[in-house]
This record gives sequence, C-alpha cells and structure tokens, in this order.
Amino acid sequence: MSWLLPRILTGIAVVALGALLGHWVGARIQAPFISELIGGAAGVATLAVLDTLRGYRLINWLRGSQEGQAPRDTGFWGEIGYRVEKSVRLRERETAGERIRLAQFLSAIEASPNGVILLDARDQIEWCNAMAAAHFGLDPKRDVRQPVTNLIRAPAFVAYLQDGEFSEPVRFTERRRDGTLSVLIRRYGDDMKIVLSQDVTVHERSEAMRRDFVANVSHEIRTPLTVLTGFIETMTSLPLSDAERRRVLELMMQQARRMGTLVSDLLTLAQLEGSPRPTAERWVAVGPLMASVEADARVLSGGKHRFSFDGAAGLQLAGAEPELLSAITNLVNNAVRYTPADGAIEVVWRLRGDGSAELSVTDSGPGIAREHLPRLTERFYRVDGSRSRDTGGTGLGLSIVKHVAQRHGGELDIQSELGKGSCFRLVLPAARTRRESLRTGLPQGAAQTQPEPH
Ligand code: ADP
Repeated sequence: MSWLLPRILTGIAVVALGALLGHWVGARIQAPFISELIGGAAGVATLAVLDTLRGYRLINWLRGSQEGQAPRDTGFWGEIGYRVEKSVRLRERETAGERIRLAQFLSAIEASPNGVILLDARDQIEWCNAMAAAHFGLDPKRDVRQPVTNLIRAPAFVAYLQDGEFSEPVRFTERRRDGTLSVLIRRYGDDMKIVLSQDVTVHERSEAMRRDFVANVSHEIRTPLTVLTGFIETMTSLPLSDAERRRVLELMMQQARRMGTLVSDLLTLAQLEGSPRPTAERWVAVGPLMASVEADARVLSGGKHRFSFDGAAGLQLAGAEPELLSAITNLVNNAVRYTPADGAIEVVWRLRGDGSAELSVTDSGPGIAREHLPRLTERFYRVDGSRSRDTGGTGLGLSIVKHVAQRHGGELDIQSELGKGSCFRLVLPAARTRRESLRTGLPQGAAQTQPEPH
C-alpha cells in the first residue's frame, strides 16, 4: 500500500493548492468563494487528466505484444503496471513450459513403433505421427482437419469407426500397401478418439507359415500311417501265405522308416532353429567326413552312377561336424536320388580366391525348371513329389542345408536347367576355412586367425 498515502496526500495537496490559487484570484475580483471552488475543481481535473494519460500508456502496452517493460510510473499506476507485467510474465513462463511438455509428449508418440492418429469429436484428424502417415499414406500437415474416413477408406476401418464398438482391434489391408494393419481405437476426453495402428504383416506371414507347417507335417505323417493301418487290417482280417506276409511286413517297414526319417529331419530342423550358431573354434577334417558321405552315396546308388569325389584332402572347416555332415549328405544323396541310372555325379571341394571353401555337387540328372529354384529351400517344397517320396525324401533336405550354411556364415547357391542337370554349391566363409599342408601337416589359411564377420 506504499502508493495509497502519497496518492491521498497528493490529491489533498493539489485540491488545496487549487483552492488557495482560487482564493488569491477571488480576492482581486471580489468572488473569493466561487474562485476557491473553481480552483479546487481545476486541481481535481488536472489529477484526472494525468491519471488518464498514465492509464492510456498502460492500456497501449497491454494491447501490444507486451514484449518490452510495462510503463514504469510511480505510485498507483506504477504499482498496477508492475503487477500486470508480473502476471503476464508468469503466464508466459507457464505457457512456454506447457509448450515444451507438449512437444516432448508428441515426440515420444512420434518415436512410438505404432501409428497414432488423434481424432476430434467429428472424426477429423487433429494430429498423426510419422508411422501412422506411413501406414495410411497420410500427410501429417496437409491432412489435419480432414475427416479421417475421406483418407482411410478401407471398408473394414470405416465400419469399425462407425460401429463405435472398440473393444477389439480390426485387421485390414490398406489399398496403398501390400501388408496387413491391425487398428485399435480408444475414446478419450470429450468424445475424441485415438487410433493406434500396427503393421502385422510379418506376424501374419509367420502365423500362416506356422499353420502351413503344421498342416504339412500332419499330412506327411498321415500318409504312411494310413498305409500302415491298411496293412495291419489286411494282416488281421485276411489269411496270408508266408510270402505275402513277408511282403506286407517289408512294405510296413518301408512306411515306418519313412516316418522315422521325417521325424528325424524335423528334429534336425528344430535343433538348427533353436540352438546358438556353432563356434568357429572347433575344426573338422573334411577328408574323413567325405569318406563317410561317399560310402553312403555308393550304397544308395547301388552301383548305378559314376562318381567323382575330389578336393577334400587336408581341408578343415570350423563348425559343428554333425551339421556339416548332414548338409553335405543331403546334397550328395539328392544327386543320387534324382539322377537316373548311368548318370554322373561330381563332388568337388575347392578354395576360392577370397579364402572361402566351396563344395559343388554336380549331377547329370533331370535338372530343375527355373521357376522352382527360389522355392527349393522352403520346407516341404518338392518339384517332383512322387519321385521325392519314392526315394525316401521328406521335402526338408535343402531347407536343412540352407540353415546349416547360414549358421556357419555361408550360403547355398543352386544352378540348374531343365534337362541339363543341377549344380548345388555350399559356400563357407574364409574365417571358417583352412587347409592343412599335406607335407608338413600344419594348418594353413590366411583367415585362420580372423574372427568371423557377423
Ligand atoms: P526331398 O526330400 O524331396 O528331396 P529336398 O529339400 O532335399 O527334399 O529337395 C527339394 C526338391 O528339390 C526335391 O523334392 C526335388 O524335387 C528337388 N531336387 C533336389 N535336389 C535335386 C537334384 N539334384 N536334381 C533334381 N531335383 C532336385
């Protein structure tokens, strides 16, 4: 209240001064009382004019941007100017703080892996993040205030929004993209809505793959099982001669073996998918490995093919021996199984210029049409289903080879042409390859000490 007393005293002093001046003038014109009154009123009027001028300056400052200081008058107007400016500055600080918090909040939503769209009560877009823009082909600036159904026209989405029942998400394909989106809407505030979108394409694909896999496995197991059941029924209901009984038992054994091979391939695949990558510390000698592969291949061929095995002597590979053996056996056995009698099969190991090792299995078999090549390593994919099954195939062999190659940092390359035979190449990286010098027995290989790139 420091302004109150000076203001009252100033008022009294100005009125008294005016009255005194009026009295002095009134004494000369013989009208002292009227002159005193006029003098006092003139003092009040002067004060009122001064107040109006100071108030006018303050109002002008308030009407403007309020960037500079408020008019710094003394007394009453000084106090008002100071208080008003203080409250304006406080409000500005609060607004700036709110703005920063809002920006942080929006950038947190922006960083979300989900798409987010905020809708007002009339389902117009208030704001959307970059992910939602990518999901629905929106422009975060241009499309603000647009009705969302003008921009997202997928019938499933429009029906979901209009239905107003948002307990479950809805899935649909946006016309601008191939994949599937899962969208969930939630209400907030005053009938406003938040639209959350998620790209579930990969999830859907892996779900579909899982379903296909289960269906395939069931089918593969049911076929031999049906045959086995038929034979068992035959044996129990029909009187069979010894020769017939032997034949039926042989066929039953064949089916049981087929199921056994399938289960063992499935277990191999499951183990390859579920275990850590083989370390590069354990070295496997390829020579003895190939001797066993060759022996098996010759038994499988029954002398019907011409073989040539080369390049394994002294070669060592770092990895898991059972996996490498399984991959090589699959490639060589496939060549035997699919190449007709009298065909030639060439199995060669060589070191490539970059130090990596390459196993090529070339056959003079029927070859594979180009359109099948990209799918050969899919589980249960067969070009010739009956030939595969007749020769004990499960449709999982090349899938196992590809997994083994990848787990060892390598790759499987397939080249084939219908009627011109096939060549399957298994390549393993330099870091996992070394060749033992045949003379010194010491391992050689530039990459021997290099860590394997991941
Ligand atoms: P399968 O157990 O049926 O042989 P794979 O995964 O080993 O399964 O092979 C997938 C398919 O690739 C086979 O069904 C076969 O049609 C084809 N294939 C594989 N190797 C050869 C080959 N050497 N010559 C011709 N076709 C082959």
